[in-house]
Amino acid sequence: MIVDWPQLSDEQIESKAASFRDQALASLGFDPSGPVPVEQIAEMYLGYDFDFVEANGRLGSDIIGGIDFDSNTIIINSAIEDHIGRYSFTIAHEIGHHVLHRELFLKARSVHSIMCRGGSKRPIEEMQADRFAEALLMPKELVIKASRSIRTSRPIFQTDRIVLAAKIIKISGLTNVSVSAMSMRLQHLNLSANPNRCWRLLRNILKAISFQNK
Ligand SMILES: [Zn+2]
Repeated sequence: MIVDWPQLSDEQIESKAASFRDQALASLGFDPSGPVPVEQIAEMYLGYDFDFVEANGRLGSDIIGGIDFDSNTIIINSAIEDHIGRYSFTIAHEIGHHVLHRELFLKARSVHSIMCRGGSKRPIEEMQADRFAEALLMPKELVIKASRSIRTSRPIFQTDRIVLAAKIIKISGLTNVSVSAMSMRLQHLNLSANPNRCWRLLRNILKAISFQNK
């Protein structure tokens, strides 16, 4: 099935996720501070049911979640049910598909009604849903506020980035996200260094020095 997915900038996805969260929380009468209750949002605001399945069953072995638009079901690989961070992120990712892709998917589909999360390929709609998920689960303002309260320089090394992410989770109260998801969020918000960019910069400096010495 070929779908012409929309080209969305990170800013557009951020803004869609933020306004979706505001509307959902207001409609459910939930407190906007603290962990974003994605499970309740999916069930009570969007009307989805959850179906927990064994790997190799309805989902492929490398698939951790999916969304079935016909039966209004979010399918979760039961292996991740007890990992609060992965579990929340998967639900947020599927909500991302609901908000960003549902309409186009239903128009274009022939038979399939399920979009899945996981697998080694990361096509554009999967990357968009991931970005939506992180923006939904980790509100920009809360993360920036927590980061400012620490007053630290932007960490470059993996261990320092992980330590910072764990601190931000504690301060912000966003306790349903994993340290690795928060670490990625910090990078995207430019609050910790992007390691690839740092290494590229270092490589270019070393190249320039060796060129000068020739
Ligand atoms: Zn997906």
